[in-house]
Amino acid sequence: MSTTRTGGCICGGVRYAVPEPLRPINTCHCRECRQMAGGPSSFTACDAAGFAFEQGEELVHWFAGPTSATGGERGFCSTCGTYLLFRIPEDPLLYFSSTTLDDETGLRVEAHIFWDSRAPWEQPDGLPTIDGYGDEGLAAIYE
Ligand SMILES: [Zn+2]
Ligand SMILES: [Zn+2]
Repeated sequence: MSTTRTGGCICGGVRYAVPEPLRPINTCHCRECRQMAGGPSSFTACDAAGFAFEQGEELVHWFAGPTSATGGERGFCSTCGTYLLFRIPEDPLLYFSSTTLDDETGLRVEAHIFWDSRAPWEQPDGLPTIDGYGDEGLAAIYE
């Protein structure tokens, strides 16, 4: 039996449901994520087909990052600005901010990605670091 996790944005306008199992968290240190999130972003992922908006899909504004090597788009709530989603064309996974999940999921950070793009003040914490997406792309990191 599969269980479902729920989450949403600060204002409550956007609500979503995702099926478990969720992927471990990877913290992204690319400049676009840091600007969007106010610090490294902590994203997990699910099969893109399994992600469902419960409400507020029309509030999500998609923004194509101008420096994204993958043509990735960032989705945020147009009312409160919460950074919710990241998607790459043709990618089987949808990435979403673990900080927007309602409850403790047991997920933990597995690695730091785009470590080569980190801010000068970010310090290593002993977890694995990957420069960029590594050699095989983002979906491979979340397998
Ligand atoms: Zn909102
Ligand atoms: Zn990033």
